[in-house]
Amino acid sequence: MDYKVGVISGDGIGPEIVREAKKVLDKVGEVFGHSFSYDEILMGGVSIDAVGVPLTDEAIAQAKEADAVLMGSIGGNTSTSPWYKLPANLRPEAGLLKLRKSLNLFANLRPAYLYGELRAACPLRDDIIGDGFDMMIMRELTGGLYFGDRRTEEQDGVMTAVDTLTYNENEIRRIAKRGFDIAMKRRKKVTSVDKANVLDSSRLWRKVVEEVAKDYKEVTLEHMLVDNCAMQLVKDPGQFDVILTENMFGDILSDEASMVTGSIGMLSSASLNDTKFGLYEPSGGSAPDIAGKGIANPIATILSAAMMLRYSFDLDREADAVEEAVRQVLKEQYRTVDIMPQEEAEKESVTQVGTAQMGDLIADKIR
Ligand code: NAD
Repeated sequence: MDYKVGVISGDGIGPEIVREAKKVLDKVGEVFGHSFSYDEILMGGVSIDAVGVPLTDEAIAQAKEADAVLMGSIGGNTSTSPWYKLPANLRPEAGLLKLRKSLNLFANLRPAYLYGELRAACPLRDDIIGDGFDMMIMRELTGGLYFGDRRTEEQDGVMTAVDTLTYNENEIRRIAKRGFDIAMKRRKKVTSVDKANVLDSSRLWRKVVEEVAKDYKEVTLEHMLVDNCAMQLVKDPGQFDVILTENMFGDILSDEASMVTGSIGMLSSASLNDTKFGLYEPSGGSAPDIAGKGIANPIATILSAAMMLRYSFDLDREADAVEEAVRQVLKEQYRTVDIMPQEEAEKESVTQVGTAQMGDLIADKIR
């Protein structure tokens, strides 16, 4: 089949890491008989330099025409780049926010997976790591506290700030369905995280999630309070499959979960709407400090492309092949510099490689 992929290479290391993900996709195409065509979309600093704004209407239209969008990263050094002297609505990040909004990307997916080969990088004790962990955080991205009305004003002579946390049942239902759909492709367990002992929005969340669960009889649902979840993530991370939660809880828990893997540079992410469309990108930024040096780790972007195969194109076998290729290359002890702790650098069996070589090695293992 033919798939049309919108590509936002972006700034900094973006073009370098996206190049490797395309290399891997092309190999998937060759081995499994698909073809991927790429349409480069300007966004971020490169768009500011070219046309004066971080995202044009034409770029949004291009993204909408694609079957899915693969992105590197956008932005520059926030202290020194002239992009950050511009008003906030003209800076690189404004382009990404506008794109997410225009494409209605309400569901954010972030896996936290511990590779056995990178166990030494995990900050948790060996007995807690056990057989490792593999979870997916499904975070609501366009509602809740970050999007509610807010104001700061003087009330009876006292400065007072108000933020509002609003969710309606439709917003909860659509993200819950997404969470259960993802669980069906995994180990069929959903942990819905809320603060239902205190918040009305959480009580509605729980009620709607339970209604949605009735349509997914094979999936086990459990509820967990957010404070307990924060503890469980470092006490017994192996218990989680899909964590389904609202915007702010997801913001905090997804960072906690990615840190316990010890290698944030390995982590992919996806933002989805209510069709098969998604925007896929690594969790890290544009790393201006290493841009152009050929040492950036392309694995998070390659794994983001694997997510695109799985969730936008329903190509599970192909996604498995990419993930397995990454595992094999790590098993054979190839490392980019960011995942090469000092004690490993001294071992002769470990080989340090650059961005392009890592891409070649992974592409070569697709079969
Ligand atoms: P960053 O993630 O770019 O870099 C943090 C550190 O991690 C740096 O030392 C960098 O070299 C390293 N790093 C990141 N990705 C790496 C990779 N693939 N391989 C090897 N090392 C890697 O975060 P930052 O420095 O805070 O932000 C830099 C710019 O990126 C800023 O303009 C920020 O706004 C932007 N940013 C963009 C996105 C996005 O495009 N979605 C996300 C986060 C940050």
